[in-house]
Amino acid sequence: MVREVLSGDILPAREAIAAIDTTDLGPPNEIPEVPADAFPENISSEERQWFCEEIVRLKRERNALVLAHNYMPPDVQDVADAVGDSLFLAQKGVAPDADVLVEAAVLFMNQILAVMKKPHQKVLAPDLRALCSLASHADAGKIRAWKKEHPDGVVVSYVNTYVDVKAESDYCCASANSPQVIKYVFENHDGPVLFGPDVFLGLYAAKMLLGMGQSVDRLWLMMGACHVHERIRPQHLQEELAKHPDAVVAGHMECGCQSACLVPLMNSSEGRMRFLSTQGMIKFARETDAEKIIVATEVGNIYPMSKAAPGKTFIPASREAICPFMKQNTLRKVYESLRDLKHEITVDVELAKRARVPIERMLRIV
Ligand code: SF4
Repeated sequence: MVREVLSGDILPAREAIAAIDTTDLGPPNEIPEVPADAFPENISSEERQWFCEEIVRLKRERNALVLAHNYMPPDVQDVADAVGDSLFLAQKGVAPDADVLVEAAVLFMNQILAVMKKPHQKVLAPDLRALCSLASHADAGKIRAWKKEHPDGVVVSYVNTYVDVKAESDYCCASANSPQVIKYVFENHDGPVLFGPDVFLGLYAAKMLLGMGQSVDRLWLMMGACHVHERIRPQHLQEELAKHPDAVVAGHMECGCQSACLVPLMNSSEGRMRFLSTQGMIKFARETDAEKIIVATEVGNIYPMSKAAPGKTFIPASREAICPFMKQNTLRKVYESLRDLKHEITVDVELAKRARVPIERMLRIV
């Protein structure tokens, strides 16, 4: 009898890739409603101005730094001290001497700051419902069992994992540096390598291994995916490419999850596809000769791209690609977080000590 493959299962890469279409990779956790005020048109300009002035005042009063992921509502991005992807914000967050770090992002990113912070710092998350469907697929218990069976194995976890999974990992990577980290691990370790939880990014790792002339037999993958990027299907991109023959596609590497739609097109889009990190995507928007760019990621990323390249046309590959977790961080919640010093994110000391090792490697290998 063929065993049913479940989300979070760990399989040899060939079996995992073959099981993608038959495995339920839907969100394992509850999906919150997107709050109405996550959309700028639902807040009056007076209200927005009041929140912004209060946030600026509170930042000064509390010696606080506000960090925002590029999927945040535009008004949150505008009031932040730094906007970027998970790797960029982790680098920004560990550097300053601010007393308070408010990060409008998702919980696994707040946890990175909580692991790396200085003793006097407080890490705040504006809303505790800002989870992540991809991170929720990862199962630390299954990783422990795999390690027992493969004592010479190396675990590479994607940044979209909670601290208990990072604590079981040898390396961590973000999309922006996943090629470098994966290559480093393959070149410096001989044993089996487990990558998770994004099975689509795992497929990318398998292609890399083949490109290096190595067998994929040493690669194991965990079954997981992001429900937001899964909605961007190859046909969405093909339709937009046909409608806009002069456009190029910029696929964002943050969250890695868009690889579900990009990987099948990587070799078939006649050079019109770019596979980029957040900062790379913004730089690309500014520097490309193309006037039209199809954006294959969460729609929030169009805002910083438009700011970087005013006058160019940005077309979302799918208007439904909205992350309800990220969008819990509204301007009001950022204000309340600073006002009431909530919600403080802390991590168990022992877990933090272990998770620090792969996080530091992620920050080092860029
Ligand atoms: S877009 Fe997907 S991977 Fe990124 S935070 Fe949202 S659910 Fe997680």
